[in-house]
Amino acid sequence: MKTKLGLLYGGKSAEHKVSLQTALAVIRALDLEKFEIHPIYINVEGQWVKGPQLNAPVQNVQALEFSASTQVSPLALAPSLFQTEKQEKESLDVIFPLLHGPNGEDGTVQGLLELLNLPYVGNGVLASAAGMDKVIMKNIFAQAGLAQVNYVAFTKSEWEITKVEIYKKVEEELGYPCFVKPANLGSSVGISKCRNLSELEAAFAEAFQYDRKVIIEEGVTAREIEVGVLGNDHPECSVAGEIVPKKDFYDYKAKYEDGETALMIPADISEDEYREIKESAIRAFKALDCSGLVRADFFLTKDGKVLINEVNTMPGFTPFSMFPLLWKETGVEYPKLIERLVNLAIERHTEKQ
Ligand code: ADP
Ligand code: MG
Ligand code: MG
Repeated sequence: MKTKLGLLYGGKSAEHKVSLQTALAVIRALDLEKFEIHPIYINVEGQWVKGPQLNAPVQNVQALEFSASTQVSPLALAPSLFQTEKQEKESLDVIFPLLHGPNGEDGTVQGLLELLNLPYVGNGVLASAAGMDKVIMKNIFAQAGLAQVNYVAFTKSEWEITKVEIYKKVEEELGYPCFVKPANLGSSVGISKCRNLSELEAAFAEAFQYDRKVIIEEGVTAREIEVGVLGNDHPECSVAGEIVPKKDFYDYKAKYEDGETALMIPADISEDEYREIKESAIRAFKALDCSGLVRADFFLTKDGKVLINEVNTMPGFTPFSMFPLLWKETGVEYPKLIERLVNLAIERHTEKQ
């Protein structure tokens, strides 16, 4: 019996296009002898569109952008409602949400799938939600004893009333350079590096365009080292990789547009540094109660300090993204990685029943 796999991709987010590329790569990697693929496309308007079952690999992303004429309610994934090609009411065996950012990686879709009692790949509601909010995430890391940069956070309504005091607090507690970020995004959207008060003022205004809460962090000069974590209750850590940016920082353009950033895998770090990063990554995974996968991102300072920056609960997942490349170097090729994740999803679901 083939595994009926629902692929959920697209999404109403800045990472819509990346998600389509990921879906295409995953479809190409799946063994059609083992999997029956059911695409579910979320278009840029946020409508859910059910595509036909795929019996052959698709050629390009356009073939995955189904028209809204086959729009369904998200609840149509419910086992009692889902119709296959044969018009029989059947249940999908597992859902793979290939979505990034708000409304995909933040626990909302995960909550829907929990209610529908469907197994799904990756992190659950709590880890997804906590991982999406940089303030909550850092508070949990602090509680778990993980070393990180100093930070403060404010809501838009606090800022509107006490701007001057807030800037003063940032200057006193963090100094320059500092980084201002919307609490709830990814892909470097809305993030600014500030070197003085006028940049700080502009950065707050910019970040509040995206969120009602911002986090401000002390800026560090450091190498950026990342590892992949895979598993449920017994997570394993990949080799480490390094982001080598050619720019000031790893911003949205460097991530997706100019291709200027090099990935060094494995990273050239000492055994001790690797051990500390690996232990911290696993500790972070457990602290957020993660499951399936995360990519844990660190700063490695010149004096050898390992500081956790963040975890991403649905990291970039094309075959050229850091997470799959890290596992390839560790000995798990892309198709095997997908199968591992599907199995982890089913295992977690079975344990809960
Ligand atoms: P995102 O979730 O959008 O990836 P990050 O917090 O990882 O946001 O920030 C994006 C990039 O900005 C990082 O990869 C790094 O290059 C830079 N950066 C972020 N915070 C700091 C910091 N405190 N010090 C130095 N560089 C930082
Ligand atoms: Mg992130
Ligand atoms: Mg990041």
